[in-house]
Amino acid sequence: MMTDLLLKNVRPLGGQATDLLIRDGLIAGIGSELTAPDATPAEDGHGAILWPGLIDAHTHLDKTTWGMPWHENDREAVLRSRIDFERENRLTLDIDPHRQSLRHAIGLVAHGATHIRSHVDIDTTHGLRMMEGVQQTREKLAGIVDIQMVAFPQSGVMVMPGTVELLDEALSNGCEVLGGIDPCGIDRDPKGQLDALFVLADRHGCDVDIHLHEAGELGAFTMELIFERVRVHGMQGRFAISHAFALGMNDHARVGRLIDEIAALDIAILTTGAPSAAVPSVKQLLAAGVRVGAGCDGIRDTWGPWGQPDMIDRATVIGMKNGFRSDRDLRLALEIVSQGGADVMRLDGYGAAIGCKADFTLLDGETVAHAVVNRAPRPLVVKGGKVVARGGACVVDMP
Ligand SMILES: [Zn+2]
Repeated sequence: MMTDLLLKNVRPLGGQATDLLIRDGLIAGIGSELTAPDATPAEDGHGAILWPGLIDAHTHLDKTTWGMPWHENDREAVLRSRIDFERENRLTLDIDPHRQSLRHAIGLVAHGATHIRSHVDIDTTHGLRMMEGVQQTREKLAGIVDIQMVAFPQSGVMVMPGTVELLDEALSNGCEVLGGIDPCGIDRDPKGQLDALFVLADRHGCDVDIHLHEAGELGAFTMELIFERVRVHGMQGRFAISHAFALGMNDHARVGRLIDEIAALDIAILTTGAPSAAVPSVKQLLAAGVRVGAGCDGIRDTWGPWGQPDMIDRATVIGMKNGFRSDRDLRLALEIVSQGGADVMRLDGYGAAIGCKADFTLLDGETVAHAVVNRAPRPLVVKGGKVVARGGACVVDMP
């Protein structure tokens, strides 16, 4: 439901203190002499910074163990083993996709997120169960946060016969975006997986967002196979590569050529600033005109203990990984976890200007850079003009 609100004493994008009038869920006025009908609810921002809603553009709402008893992790850090452990133990560990995705999403909202792109595992063991759980969460949180779902073949595509059919079904029943994973490293059949994905994307007219952990020359090779197909299928502007670790390799000339192609085909890159891997330089990508968004990825799940449902926390990780220190760079880190995600997801009406949707968070800090390192509780989070979190707590209780 779209609502009206008069928000007093806030600093849009860290500028001068002013007031904001919201009508029908849109920013209708910015200034100190605004008049609103008597019945309009009012809030005092106490001089906080007003920033467009944070965007977790790469997460896995169906995986977290947040709020559950501590999960002891004694597994080796090998991709295939972690994938198999999770799939085989989801039920015995009681990682209920609805309850857990609700906890994760509520945490993100409490920390200022207004939009989420979540990959949901689609595999031959659990079918569409994870998608259905996250779908229930999406319905429960309608009007609180927008959740987009990616049909994600976590366990592989060609190595798990029956997965292509399940992805097809997921795209017909709730997922808006098609995922993929390491066509060489996981499937050992890059042509098989990529051809199957592009056929599905054609059939459903959907965007693709592929996990590409493949590093170095192997990842570069997979990227080239993707470029060929984006061209042939006319998927320019509709393809995203998550992680893209190959762009973190030391061969700068090679990386430069890959980035030129990525920019030319308008492929988006999603980064998590993974501390354990070589990651793309976000500045190099932005300088080339590439759309760059970010996400928390999995948080506190069977893969690992790290992470918070907080995009400012993620901006910190990305900032540290990219060697950011200056105030300007800290602001850039914040832009990547907000406008960057909107660019990748192509959100309409996103921003802090008149006419934009009233989806924003207040940040506590003297300046934008201070707010990023401060990581203080978000004073107020507003979605469609409605207060959805206050003082670091979402209006929806944690289950
Ligand atoms: Zn991921």
